[in-house]
Amino acid sequence: MIYQPAIETMPVAQLRALQSERFVRLVRYMYEHQPFYRRQWDAHRIDIRSVKSIDDIGRFPFTIKTHLRDEYPFGLMAVPPADLVRIHASSGTTGKPTVVGYTRADIDMFAEVVARSLCCAGALPGMKLHNAYGYGLFTGGLGLHYGGERLGMAVIPVSGGMTDRQLMLLQDFGPEVISCTPSYALTLAEAIRERGIPLEKFKLRYAILGAEPWTETTRQAVEAGLGVTATNIYGLSEIVGPGVSQEDFEEKGGSHIWEDHFFPEIVHPDTGEPQPYNTEGILVFTTLTKQGIPLMRYRTNDICSLYYDSGSKRTHIKMSPIKGRSDDMLIIRGVNLFHTQVEAVLHDMPEFSANYQLIIYREGALDAVEVLVELSEVIYAAIGARLPINDEFLNQLKRRLEKKIKDNIGLSMRITLADRDALPRSEGGKLKRILDRR
Ligand code: ADP
Repeated sequence: MIYQPAIETMPVAQLRALQSERFVRLVRYMYEHQPFYRRQWDAHRIDIRSVKSIDDIGRFPFTIKTHLRDEYPFGLMAVPPADLVRIHASSGTTGKPTVVGYTRADIDMFAEVVARSLCCAGALPGMKLHNAYGYGLFTGGLGLHYGGERLGMAVIPVSGGMTDRQLMLLQDFGPEVISCTPSYALTLAEAIRERGIPLEKFKLRYAILGAEPWTETTRQAVEAGLGVTATNIYGLSEIVGPGVSQEDFEEKGGSHIWEDHFFPEIVHPDTGEPQPYNTEGILVFTTLTKQGIPLMRYRTNDICSLYYDSGSKRTHIKMSPIKGRSDDMLIIRGVNLFHTQVEAVLHDMPEFSANYQLIIYREGALDAVEVLVELSEVIYAAIGARLPINDEFLNQLKRRLEKKIKDNIGLSMRITLADRDALPRSEGGKLKRILDRR
């Protein structure tokens, strides 16, 4: 089912016209209501009356996270606090969090894009949604909650953690849809396997996973472990929260950005130059319809590419899976490294599970990487025992992985094999893929 067919299948030319109309209105609104932007645009000598279409967007400077922090907490809001109906904040690992405010119309738009996303993920009105995203300042919990209700689902607000209770509710309430982080979906899948619960006890059909980068390896593990079709939901609190983009459950491969509300661009990480379709770079968004805190050309720091997929049911542009954040990109002996590159190599070797960590350490004056990875079921079936096993077979396996990493990524890494379930799991939160011991 398509939730809003008139919008989701709108011809691209018409979509562009809608974006232009909204953009022209937005620029005036922001200039009038956000002193930060008025100052910035005046300093850049941008005459907003000369802005005629979305094609003028390249004339505007970027907004970055620091701008939001500098205006902490409410300086960037376009409306007085009395006009807000909700305030969220991102976790912000360092310093003050970034704060976002929503008017009633913003909450309405947020619910609409999440309802669209849920439908795109396979959910239908009348189904139940087990929402295991955290409820709180983080936008995930309430975002999926309102979207599920909007679509006409019965939402079960479980939030994260307490895995045994989650397994009980999943069996007793029989939800068809679950939303959570990919790492928590893996935790649930493992818990089901460990406890020997047959999948027939569940009615789950679809999993909607987001809030952190994940890959095909995780998709396969979640799909097999929970008996679902798993798709990606992407978003960030600065733009609205989850539901900025969503993967279709039959097409997979890339996520539709809801272009009538969020205008995407890809820019070069160093020069800021706009990049053509199918070229990787930093994802930038302009909010076309937000009232509380509209943002112009916000640099997400997430790395991906954009493309139109003519074979798709919907016309909106797609983004490739996020490869990582430009601020989490590691530079090891001059080579750029994202942990998802290691994950992609592991994916090609069925002997390894999707549970891995990269440990960055010093070797003399140089940086070095150790890959700590759990073995998969395939291995236990073959060797019939747990580690440690001094086995030529496992040594060979290590050497094969070492070589494949060297060939594909261009770096030598030390490999340490771990028993299944040896790595620490996150309860509901984001899994720590990188341990920096430098
Ligand atoms: P925080 O995690 O700091 O509280 P957000 O919830 O707004 O703040 O996090 C947004 C960020 O999470 C995105 O910019 C992106 O890096 C990451 N993210 C969200 N969804 C996905 C996804 N589906 N794939 C990859 N990364 C994602």
